[in-house]
Amino acid sequence: MLIYNSQTHRKEEFKPIDAGRVRMYVCGPTVYDQIHIGNARTFLSFDVIRRYLQYKGYQVTFAQNLTDVDDKIINRANETGTTAAAVAEEFSAAFIEQMHRFGILDPDIRPRATREIEAMQDMISLLIEKGFAYVASNGDVYFSVRSDTHYGVLSGRDLDQLRAGERVEVNDEKHDPFDFALWKAAKPGEPSWPSPWGEGRPGWHTECCAMIHRYLGTPIDIHGGGADLIFPHHENETAQAMCAWNAPLANVWMHAGMLRVDGEKMSKSLGNFYTLKEVLDKYPADAVRLLMLQTHYRAPLDFSFERLEGTVGTVQRLKGCVRNLRWTAKNAQEDGVLTDADRAFGAAIDEARKEFTSQMDDDFNTAGALAAIFGLVTTANTYLKEAGDNTSTSVTIRASDTLCELCAVLGIDLVDTNSKEELPEELVDLAVEYAGYKGTSASEAAQALLAARQAARSEKNWTLADNIRDAIAGLGLSVEDTPAGARLIKKD
Ligand code: AMP
Ligand code: ZN
Repeated sequence: MLIYNSQTHRKEEFKPIDAGRVRMYVCGPTVYDQIHIGNARTFLSFDVIRRYLQYKGYQVTFAQNLTDVDDKIINRANETGTTAAAVAEEFSAAFIEQMHRFGILDPDIRPRATREIEAMQDMISLLIEKGFAYVASNGDVYFSVRSDTHYGVLSGRDLDQLRAGERVEVNDEKHDPFDFALWKAAKPGEPSWPSPWGEGRPGWHTECCAMIHRYLGTPIDIHGGGADLIFPHHENETAQAMCAWNAPLANVWMHAGMLRVDGEKMSKSLGNFYTLKEVLDKYPADAVRLLMLQTHYRAPLDFSFERLEGTVGTVQRLKGCVRNLRWTAKNAQEDGVLTDADRAFGAAIDEARKEFTSQMDDDFNTAGALAAIFGLVTTANTYLKEAGDNTSTSVTIRASDTLCELCAVLGIDLVDTNSKEELPEELVDLAVEYAGYKGTSASEAAQALLAARQAARSEKNWTLADNIRDAIAGLGLSVEDTPAGARLIKKD
């Protein structure tokens, strides 16, 4: 299995540190507002990466923090006349709620920065002791980038070149403009904790590094985040780890590409954002997921509502296919000798699974994996159409199971499609009335009603055909014409 490592700029064969186990960490959000769909894209990318690693049989331990103390949180609290803790609490809950709606699996470990102060202080003390950090006169503690000979190892940046090109925060307390704060002395009204260097709070880069060390041990197998975090956040994270514990923070660094609108990165500061909440209030989560997974996780993704509208239909096509396959399997005769068409369909199922795996093994190419899934959908639709009444139950059910299984790896749940198959018992009464049906099965009653409606239409008895349709609609069902014939589905 190949994974692109941002540090080496190459796809590398993935080898976890402990065979069969993967320890991974993805930087979580700063909880000061609803997250936007750009943030969501990064979290989705790693959700699918995690699910695929599990699918491959790895035992994955996945940690993701909540940055619940930060300037943005403090500013928001001041603007709204509340406390930083209340802001963090509100938007931590909002984040978790939206992640659930989006079908993102909970991390195994979700540390909150404000509850990990001790681990951070331990790391800062160690860095000071080893000569990699210094206490400034105002009580800030800084990491000295010049003392770290490896600095720049992740982003490939050279400090001397950086100096000319990049804007950095000018601050008299720092020995070097690129030194970054491990600990920030408290300003009046800010949340703070006691420390050997006075009241203060941790710096952002320090949080992730200390939490990773505490919960997963270093180095970990995979560290992820959006590509905008490579510098300075991840560079600073790994610098601290290397200097504190003489080992890099992670073996593989993975970064998701930016979601863009009109060619520009979606961000709060540019104001060109849609929150995940507002998008999920209007569109099914599966459609948003599918839209995002149609692009490779490292490539930039151009978002538009026009594209999203298109994806809604694509999800329906997928769900419709699984429904048709299940419907057909349920109503088909027992398998006799498999026909050539059955065998060809069976081979196409195996081929689709193989193709899915080989695409995902190639640095999680979800776009290629989806192409394999939709290739199978097309084959299945053709098979159902051409086989007519002569379908194989075993092959048909295997196709629907395979589609469900592969989609589940991408976090798209097709299993709930089945619950739509539960037909109401009242259909039996209608079938007795309109079709002379004598049995007790709701699905047989549905077939009898559809046949009676079809017969009425053939005889141009439009009143009867309409009455049957209206009676069916009265049960919350509608008639759907599919390659496998007409059938009843629950109205969404
Ligand atoms: P933040 O709360 O700003 O630290 O962002 C949370 C995560 O979202 C980080 O991993 C960022 O790299 C990621 N992120 C921010 N903006 C975008 C974007 N436009 N597209 C994809 N990921 C993003
Ligand atoms: Zn981080």
